[in-house]
Amino acid sequence: MDIQNINDLVSQPDVCRCCLSANGKWDLTTSYISESGTKEIYSEMLQECYGITLSHIKDWATSHMVCSLCVGQLRDACSFRNQVLSASNCFAEYYNKAKESLIKSEDNIDLLQPVSESFAEELLIPNDGKLMNSTYLYII
Ligand SMILES: [Zn+2]
Repeated sequence: MDIQNINDLVSQPDVCRCCLSANGKWDLTTSYISESGTKEIYSEMLQECYGITLSHIKDWATSHMVCSLCVGQLRDACSFRNQVLSASNCFAEYYNKAKESLIKSEDNIDLLQPVSESFAEELLIPNDGKLMNSTYLYII
C-alpha cells in the first residue's frame, strides 16, 4: 500500500482506527453498554489491555471509529486478560493462605524432630546414603 492510499484511508471519517478498514461503526471514545451489561469505552479498553494510546483520538479531523470485528477482538483480549489476572489472584490468595497456615502450624509444633535415616528410608526420602543434619520432619 503506497502512501497516497494510506492517506486516502486515514482521511476517511469512518475508517477503523485499529485495522484501517472503512467499516468503522463504533466511536472509540463513547461509552457503550455491552449485551452482558458491562460499560465499555474502547479507547480505554485498548489502553488497559495493551497500553495503547491512540494518537489524535480527540481531534476533530481524525476518525474516532472502530469496526465490529476489531471490537470483538478487543473484547476477547480484555476478557482473556481479566481471566489471567483472576487466575493469578487465586494463586496469590492460595499462596498467602498456605503460607499463613504454615506459620500458624509452626507456632503449634510441640516437637521438631530430626529425621532418622531409617524413618527417611521408610518415607522414601532420597538421601544419597546420608541424611544431612538439617533435615527435619515437621509433626503437626
Ligand atoms: Zn477494525
